[in-house]
Amino acid sequence: MKSNKIENIDTKNNENLPVRTCLACRDKKEKKNLFRISKFENKYIFDATNKIQARGVYICKKISCIEKFSKNKKYNIEKEELIKMIDIIKKNKKENQINFYIDIKKCVFGIKIVREKVWNKEVKLTVIASDITEKNMDKIINDCKQKAVKYVVSENKERLGRIFGKNEISVIGILDENLANSLMKSLGGVPVEST
Ligand SMILES: [Zn+2]
Repeated sequence: MKSNKIENIDTKNNENLPVRTCLACRDKKEKKNLFRISKFENKYIFDATNKIQARGVYICKKISCIEKFSKNKKYNIEKEELIKMIDIIKKNKKENQINFYIDIKKCVFGIKIVREKVWNKEVKLTVIASDITEKNMDKIINDCKQKAVKYVVSENKERLGRIFGKNEISVIGILDENLANSLMKSLGGVPVEST
């Protein structure tokens, strides 16, 4: 059987980040921000580890998308599988509540100021929303690489905004080392340390 196992995500080269479409809402997102549903022994199950070597479909980590998907007769997914996904969402929500206590005085927001602070090496971690323009993505990643600043591409503008109590955020510069470390963990991103 031909292997279509998940490829290694190389965060250093953002253009290669695999993007998939949510079957429920048709939003395009990075693969790692979606749940994978795979066919296994003739039925569709939640592929929590992304390792089932079969064709998979993807849905957002959102209750509304899971609900919509549950009504899709073609996949006819069992309730237990849906619950597994919902439990993960609930867990993530809890983590977001922790994120709510982020001291925003230790952060700078927006492309211009973040780039400035990266160049001054004041930024310990750059958090980049996955849905900013390719041009800006390249600029910021290049800056981080040149200045050996860690960066992570995580979440979309809307969700980053929610975490930081703002509307939409395209990029955040974390100025504090401890906050950078804990944030990296809760965002579940893979830090890239440039050399
Ligand atoms: Zn969706």
